[in-house]
Amino acid sequence: MTARLDLFHPDREPEAAPGRYAPSPTGRLHLGNLRTALIAWRSARDRGARFLVRIEDIDTGRSRDEWIEVQLEELRQIGVDWDGEPVRQSERHDLYREALSKLEADGLLYECFCTRAEIREAASAPHGELPEGAYPGTCRELTEAERAGRRAAGRPPALRVRAAGARVGFDDHLCGRVEKTLDDFVVRRNDGDFAYNLAVTVDDADQGIGEVLRGADLLDTTPRQLWLYDRLGLAAPARFSHVPLMLGEDGERLAKRHGAITLEERIEAGESPASVRRELFDSADR
Ligand code: GLU
Repeated sequence: MTARLDLFHPDREPEAAPGRYAPSPTGRLHLGNLRTALIAWRSARDRGARFLVRIEDIDTGRSRDEWIEVQLEELRQIGVDWDGEPVRQSERHDLYREALSKLEADGLLYECFCTRAEIREAASAPHGELPEGAYPGTCRELTEAERAGRRAAGRPPALRVRAAGARVGFDDHLCGRVEKTLDDFVVRRNDGDFAYNLAVTVDDADQGIGEVLRGADLLDTTPRQLWLYDRLGLAAPARFSHVPLMLGEDGERLAKRHGAITLEERIEAGESPASVRRELFDSADR
């Protein structure tokens, strides 16, 4: 471990520490994404804080470089500006590797050879403490010989952390108290990609983020990240704010069938970016 991950950020108080928006370049941003970006931006600027954009392109199967500039242009059009150049997770693998080495050195990692189907099957049996759908711990106590056998059979392992049973709670700025019992979650996938929870934790800490503001669909991931902050010896952001998702008229999560859901489609339909921006702020303030 270098000292990099242990940086102390003297300006961590939420008033001064930066906010961020962290899109994954897997397509155009839809209006719900743009609304989240606007709220995060406004929250940071209201505090007089810097605002950062981070490109979350660690998922090599789904991320495409060509979406990066499209998304940045959509953010500019809707009136979000940011400080400095956006960082890209694909250029930060050394930091994620360092974090994995620390977890490994502390005996907190193990290889998991399970397929999704196996996990589904094993997870349907009752497991006391663990929540539904949680990883049942199948590979937790494999012997070295068993692991060698599975590797020889050609199964690439994912890496999981020994977190099962840990109870983590926090007070979300918008959603209130959240408590969750963790399972042994994945920090490196079996295709070699670093997992979202690992990268986002390392990056929010490294960038000294004061407020993590994102969609409420990610509310459930925060306890995992808080566990990682703790185990990695990193200071967690002062505030987590999960904004309710924007819904279509039928009350369902925004999707293509709801019509014009990207800025481009709204502009093609004759609206101006300024009027879409007003609509998004209005719907956020309601
Ligand atoms: N990259 C994630 C997404 O686009 C957001 C992650 C975050 O804000 O923590 O859904």
